[in-house]
Amino acid sequence: MRDLSHDRALLSINSITVKAWSLQQLVEGCARAGIAAISPWRDIVQDCGVERAAKLIRGHGMTVTGLCRGGMFPAADAASRRAALDDNRRAIDEAAAIGAQCLVLVAGGLPKGSRDIAGARTQVREALHALLPDARAARVPLAIEPLHPMFAADRACVNTLAQANELCEELGEGAGVAVDTYHVWWDPNVEKEIARAGKNILAYHVNDWLVPTSDLLLDRGMMGDGAIDLRAIRAMVERAGYRGHCEVEILSAKNWWTRDPDEVLRVCIERHQTVV
Ligand code: ZN
Repeated sequence: MRDLSHDRALLSINSITVKAWSLQQLVEGCARAGIAAISPWRDIVQDCGVERAAKLIRGHGMTVTGLCRGGMFPAADAASRRAALDDNRRAIDEAAAIGAQCLVLVAGGLPKGSRDIAGARTQVREALHALLPDARAARVPLAIEPLHPMFAADRACVNTLAQANELCEELGEGAGVAVDTYHVWWDPNVEKEIARAGKNILAYHVNDWLVPTSDLLLDRGMMGDGAIDLRAIRAMVERAGYRGHCEVEILSAKNWWTRDPDEVLRVCIERHQTVV
């Protein structure tokens, strides 16, 4: 079996990890470091211009393990829900243009002022059904990423792999999951649900859970600096049949974002080899 952690070719860098960089800097910086895969956020792709971004990525022979991100579906009124769907259709087009292996979806939380989490979840489900034909037509699978329940109100009301798996099983072809260690490590059913996801695992995001965590969103740890048994989770995704990249996704306002991005990449490579 191919060992995902010892193969530099299977390391991918999510652009948020080196937030100071533009898309061009990300592509060139990764190429310099011998990293052949990236997962950009939409803002840097748009800043670059989608066509130019596609050309840059192709020119450097980069694999794009995902485009971050679509989703944010629930809204207080029909017009806003339609606007969210339109924006997601643009995200599918962007993902197709840059050859992304999937569009990562963060479901969205409660509409402003709402206390109806069941209703928000219904809105997510309906939005996924509405979007799926476009995703299939563009051959851009939708990677539903469950987020840790601390984000249920403001970012994602899909909070467990079980929930994401249920959606995938209902949606069928064109829908899968993004497994992010930060969001799933605590789940007592993580092993069972990773196995259940099987071939639906479209992306695998790595990072760590710091103790203590000083900011719910912007204090993620570098692999090896926290409480997550990364080797154990990687073994689970490999047993489930996943043979794709380990994508480093670290939002870290006070630590990693303040460092030289070239240094951050060096640490990512080292930790990928030693602890992922
Ligand atoms: Zn993620």
